Amino acid sequence: METHSVPEYFGELVFDDRQMRARLSSKVYASLRKTIDEGKKLDSKIAEAVASAMKEWALEKGATHFTHWFQPLTGITAEKHDSFITPSPDGSVIMEFSGKELIQGEPDASSFPSGGIRATFEARGYTAWDPTSYAFIKDKTLCIPTAFCSYSGEALDKKTPLLRSMEALNKQALRILKLFGNDTAKYVRTSVGPEQEYFLITKEMYDLRPDLRYTGRTLFGSRPPKGQEMDDHYFGVIKPRVQEFMNDLNQELWKLGILAKTEHNEVAPAQHELAPIYSTTNIATDQNQLMMEIMQKVAAKHGLVCLLHEKPFAGVNGSGKHNNWSMATDTGINLLSPGETPYENAQFLLFLCAVIKAVDDYQDLLRLSVATAGNDHRLGANEAPPAIISVFLGDELSAILDAIENDTPYAGTEKKIMKLGVDILPAFPRDTTDRNRTSPFAFTGNKFEFRSLGSSNSIACANIMLNSVVAESLKIYADRLEGAEDFEKTLHEMIKKTIKDHKRILFNGNGYDDAWVKEATEVRGLCNYRTTPDCMPHILDEKNVKLLTGHKVFTEKEIESRCEIMLENYCKQVRIEANTMMDMALRQILPAIAGYSDKLSETVSSKKSVNASLACSYETDVISKLSVLADQIYTRSGELEKAIIALGSAEDIIAESAAIRDTLLPKMGELRAAADEAETLVSSEYWPYPSYGDMLFSVR
Ligand code: ADP
Ligand code: MG
Repeated sequence: METHSVPEYFGELVFDDRQMRARLSSKVYASLRKTIDEGKKLDSKIAEAVASAMKEWALEKGATHFTHWFQPLTGITAEKHDSFITPSPDGSVIMEFSGKELIQGEPDASSFPSGGIRATFEARGYTAWDPTSYAFIKDKTLCIPTAFCSYSGEALDKKTPLLRSMEALNKQALRILKLFGNDTAKYVRTSVGPEQEYFLITKEMYDLRPDLRYTGRTLFGSRPPKGQEMDDHYFGVIKPRVQEFMNDLNQELWKLGILAKTEHNEVAPAQHELAPIYSTTNIATDQNQLMMEIMQKVAAKHGLVCLLHEKPFAGVNGSGKHNNWSMATDTGINLLSPGETPYENAQFLLFLCAVIKAVDDYQDLLRLSVATAGNDHRLGANEAPPAIISVFLGDELSAILDAIENDTPYAGTEKKIMKLGVDILPAFPRDTTDRNRTSPFAFTGNKFEFRSLGSSNSIACANIMLNSVVAESLKIYADRLEGAEDFEKTLHEMIKKTIKDHKRILFNGNGYDDAWVKEATEVRGLCNYRTTPDCMPHILDEKNVKLLTGHKVFTEKEIESRCEIMLENYCKQVRIEANTMMDMALRQILPAIAGYSDKLSETVSSKKSVNASLACSYETDVISKLSVLADQIYTRSGELEKAIIALGSAEDIIAESAAIRDTLLPKMGELRAAADEAETLVSSEYWPYPSYGDMLFSVR
């Protein structure tokens, strides 16, 4: 245990502003700060000085290696460690780290997914330092957050487009602010606070489950006698072993400068949540990746395994990630916070409308930004928002928008017709009680909470799309307002028009209700893309390509490559699951059934040898039932195998992913059903796997 206090060790493994200020000359510091805050290009001399200070700091902390830490399209982070050592003529070594090594790296990256980009250009990619995200030390290695690109400049990672999308939004938001007379804001940044859900089970049980080890989720398992029906876990007392894990985790995260703040039990047994305090989007993204990694490491130290899969257990709530998102100026004004003067109010409403319009116009991009094989099991399964994207505003704010749209008196306090830019927005209470957990995209007072993300997703994808689509609305508004003769009149009309045109996306009701699916799709014409193969190809739709290339977030090639990679990941994931199921069925489940049936027949023989007229109906019944189930399991495994072979390797990844969804997933479901039924009949001593009950209630 640490002996010193949290404020003392908070951020001790980060080369943060405190270190920069203390270790860099004021000239170097000022120049680096300009780069960080305003994206100014960094001089190579400055880089040299920063590298040297960073190295000294890292060596003092016991680091021996450095790495360019990046986020390729595998969904996890990548690092290749180089030691600082350089030989000197006398046979000894010195520790070196140059400005060039800080700024640029060349990982041998030929095995990272590129969706065909690299093949057509250069074989190798390069990494480039992102000075806006602080370097940190992990496992004696100085980790430098970097972007990862091909030599021709195409992004091969998640950070590059994220930074571009932040820049796109910055540019358009500043235009709007200028129109409202704000000339002091230097930049607008988006902030994110990602709430992370996860499961903890014991390492012993995990090791016994090939499905968890290979795929992150259980592919077999009958329902436990007790699940989450009592709702006794949510916010319940945290068990001692979990508390120890959380304490340790917090400490590791705090050392890394991650503002771990809230922790509590979630709805499902063994499910928990950790939320940090929000920070700038690209930092929050890096830190969320780091947090997921540290969670798994700390769990291992406690003999536990942290499951980040979206749906580790069928029939039990899955895990998501809530992406709390807002926009703020460098001067600290939250643009999604209602203001106190008429002008502030009008500005707030405009930014609010920009988001509403963006979400409606680009439902598909938001939906596909969270699409993975894992998340498909969660969305729309009455534990997470539906696959349909809609916006929750709460009753008060909805009533205000209604009044504006219809020029009717707002029924709030003063009962008068509001004139934007002239009247003060009626005060409306921040919705803290009236939480609608069923909405995928909810306004919560001064931020939006995008709740559709899967627990293992990088938050980069969702935020790339969110930033881009809002940048587009802001651009349209700015174009119109800049040319307007009467600013206030145009503003008022624009807001009214947005509400009129996009109110179909506003929904305050129960998103889990079947009636909503019907209304959303049949009456309102909203998209309902249930699965990854349904939504992912829409990234290639003309309007979406136009938007993303228009704001320079992606090139057309990058969009194509991303679509391909995401669908490839989907196909690989489901294939691995199918293969794992067959393996488990044939080599463990069927033998277990056979063994137990044998055991029962032996019992029958020995009983009959005592008394030949004994019925032995329990044994014979179970043997018969198991025999039928064993045949089903065997046949269905064969059918699954045939289906895999029949798929071959399709030329067209879109068609392949749809075929995988339509053939493999249903066959996997059938195989599982037979095996799960068998589990309920076979003695737990014979069953090769810990049961759902064992796993969900294992951590005391
Ligand atoms: P909960 O949703 O659990 O009630 P909160 O709404 O207080 O909790 O916060 C959830 C997350 O939203 C936290 O990570 C918090 O830091 C973050 N958050 C709070 N304000 C903002 C903001 N203005 N922008 C982005 N994230 C925010
Ligand atoms: Mg929340």
